[in-house]
Amino acid sequence: MNPSSNLTPDKYGFCFDHSYSKLPEVLFSRANPKQFNNPSLVIFNAPLAKTLGLNTPAIKASGWACFSGQEIPAAAYPIAQAYAGHQFGGFNNLGDGRAILLGEHISPNATRVDVQLKGSGPTPYSRSGDGLAGLGPMLREYLMSEAMQALGVPTTRSLAVMLTGEVVYRAQPQSGALLTRVAASHIRVGTFQYASAINQVDVLKALAEYTISRHYSNIKNNPSPYVALLDAVIDSQASLIAKWMQFGFIHGVMNTDNMSIVGETIDYGPCAFLNAYSPNTVFSSIDQNGRYAFGNQPKMGEWNLTRFAESLLPLLAENREDAIRIATDSLNAYQTKYRDYWLDAMRKKLGLVNAEPSDLTLAEDLLMLMVKHQADFTNTFRQLNTTSQLEKSLVSDVSFQHWQKLWKERLSRQPLSMEQSVALMHANNPQVIPRNHLVEEVLEFAAQGNMASFHAFIEVLQTPYSKPINEKYLSGAGAGFDESYQTFCGT
Ligand code: AMP
Ligand code: MG
Repeated sequence: MNPSSNLTPDKYGFCFDHSYSKLPEVLFSRANPKQFNNPSLVIFNAPLAKTLGLNTPAIKASGWACFSGQEIPAAAYPIAQAYAGHQFGGFNNLGDGRAILLGEHISPNATRVDVQLKGSGPTPYSRSGDGLAGLGPMLREYLMSEAMQALGVPTTRSLAVMLTGEVVYRAQPQSGALLTRVAASHIRVGTFQYASAINQVDVLKALAEYTISRHYSNIKNNPSPYVALLDAVIDSQASLIAKWMQFGFIHGVMNTDNMSIVGETIDYGPCAFLNAYSPNTVFSSIDQNGRYAFGNQPKMGEWNLTRFAESLLPLLAENREDAIRIATDSLNAYQTKYRDYWLDAMRKKLGLVNAEPSDLTLAEDLLMLMVKHQADFTNTFRQLNTTSQLEKSLVSDVSFQHWQKLWKERLSRQPLSMEQSVALMHANNPQVIPRNHLVEEVLEFAAQGNMASFHAFIEVLQTPYSKPINEKYLSGAGAGFDESYQTFCGT
């Protein structure tokens, strides 16, 4: 059966197209979701469904069956995508081992998004895995991705989590679950690595053309479209990672298969936000050497982009040396691009509206003082103008007092009143982030079947720049918690 499009809404409001399935077949495999015993809904993202133009009453009346894979919408064409990836530096052939793409839904505003079931059973790429997922990790992805969206960070979205009615066996048995994930696409750096590794230049070219027309149509008529694609991906990754750094987000597993070509945050496994600021912060249990520590993220982004550039080499020039030279020139721009995005964000966090050469030092000096005093990253920025709420040891440090004097002088040299500067800071420094201890608390309740605290947390995370009524959302767990806090991959 060939994929056919249905661009008028079906009974659930889905309008599926399947442009990816028209690419060479080596890039994907047909796959069908597993039939589960007794699926039930855990959480549904009604606002997202509305934006997508879905018919919530009809989906509900069906028992949410399209979110558990028990009913395949009429025009869906389920596939698993092939990809490869460098995992902690080592190259592996991977692919969707526990995810199935139903198709590309066309929203009422003509946006094309992938709709994917994650945890939907084995696929041809499952290797020794069971293709399943546990409730905790799927709810964690739901919560983190929705928090990122509200903060303004490009991200995949979460439409629903269902229990499968079965148990999955991990370190401890847990309830099986599926997540319906919505993404601009699931094309990864690792998808290009796969297309390059199979040594079929026509496949690589088809993938590059496809990516340009789907995501970077502004470069379609560029005389060197593949170089322009490399430059565009470098730019979107630099911009994304600067946003992570601006909010204290640690992805935790920045393998090349977990890097979206569009610059969305994808694959929320062991991710976490830092509390006390330290660039060395790592929470992932398997990241023993701190490869993906908070402060290493910009560098690892560059490493991943270098792998992307390598995979594109056959398209960049006829001659390999020329291709390497072109790729190197493009990659050389990354650090400046990243630094500019980061500094732009830091200026806003500091309430600065214009640029002065010393701004970089001003931002870096504050961060150094925050390391020294283990100051909370989120709250220090938020409360910078109200010294009374800052860490006591920070405020009494003469170096900080000197820094504050320089900062206030800097503020006075820009064409904004103090009130306007503070408003700028408040619009760029959140009050609420998904604090580790609260994430764990709501997941523990959810595992016991109590979703009330999860819903309450999600609601607070929707408006991260406003002060919540309940003050428990405003700080970390305090001394000791983060030192022993561990997050886990792919569970
Ligand atoms: P992740 O760590 O989630 O990015 O996954 C890395 C790779 O392992 C991907 O190719 C996943 O599809 C695959 N994978 C992770 N968990 C499972 C599982 N339970 N069954 C099959 N494949 C899996
Ligand atoms: Mg992954």
